[in-house]
Amino acid sequence: MKKIVLSGMRPTGKLHIGHLSVIDNWINLQEEFDTNFFVADYHALTTQFDDTSMLQENIRNMMIDWLAIGLDPEKSTLFIQSQIKEHAELYLLFSMITPLSWLERCPTYKGQIDQFREQQGKDITTHGFLGYPLLQGADILLYLANFVPVGEDQLPHLEITREVARRFNHIYKTDLFPEPKGLLAKVPLLLGTDGRKMSKSYNNYINIMSETDEISSKVRSMITDPKRIRKDDPGNPDVCTVYSYQKIYNHEDVVEIEQSCKAGTIGCMDCKKKLISSLDRLLGPIREKRHSIEDNKKYIDDVIEFGREKAKVKAQINIEKIKEAMNLI
Ligand code: SF4
Repeated sequence: MKKIVLSGMRPTGKLHIGHLSVIDNWINLQEEFDTNFFVADYHALTTQFDDTSMLQENIRNMMIDWLAIGLDPEKSTLFIQSQIKEHAELYLLFSMITPLSWLERCPTYKGQIDQFREQQGKDITTHGFLGYPLLQGADILLYLANFVPVGEDQLPHLEITREVARRFNHIYKTDLFPEPKGLLAKVPLLLGTDGRKMSKSYNNYINIMSETDEISSKVRSMITDPKRIRKDDPGNPDVCTVYSYQKIYNHEDVVEIEQSCKAGTIGCMDCKKKLISSLDRLLGPIREKRHSIEDNKKYIDDVIEFGREKAKVKAQINIEKIKEAMNLI
């Protein structure tokens, strides 16, 4: 039997190229594993509870983006978290057995509260925000997942899930839950186009739906080696944001670009043109596929319904086992 993989993504707007490598990794996993990917709309509420006006649109756009990039609803279970009520139920059951201190010591908890307070003047010290690593645990363990594709910064959250699985198995004398392991994805860290952390609030990202002129204008505004004044000055690619993108999106030419930059035989504008072409070659087919999908309302509805049914069957079977172990049924 195939091992089970689960991951989710918050619906916070259309995807940008930073998400592309994450989804590409999911697509590769589809072949080897029983893969389950969900739109994490409950998680969006942990920080965006006060403005849900775009939530439905964002959920649908995320599903369309996934399909356009290449996730296959036949191979993976693609679903919307809140449509499967068992996520909320298991979260409640886990909240009964999880010591508060496990959540309070989560390394990102205090940092994110401070960040929201400073940047948006917003207080997110809610029960839901404190508990979101536990909700993640419920998401993962509801499907008895063996693996979770994660970035290194998410490993502490997975550790809570593993602790909850161990504690549940110990208290209720069962081996129902596997201890899920992180699948550290080879997802390159992509900086924003201005060299800062990629962030919606800085508007320093390239949307996967960008048309050629938008890609061009974002790349043209990218920071290069600031010490390079004239076209034939030797450059230092290691301090150049364009080069950090070339390494990912122009892999075949990157040695030549590095050498030409250091030798001062390529100008920054020509270098940027190469990147614009590569990104357009990459995003063009996704853009076209997305246009054809978004016009097909019935197809999107069918995919969402198909995923909901597949996820529901799995979740219902497992929640029965979990409640049996707890003597709730
Ligand atoms: S030539 Fe390319 S790699 Fe070198 S500084 Fe200019 S943009 Fe960056």
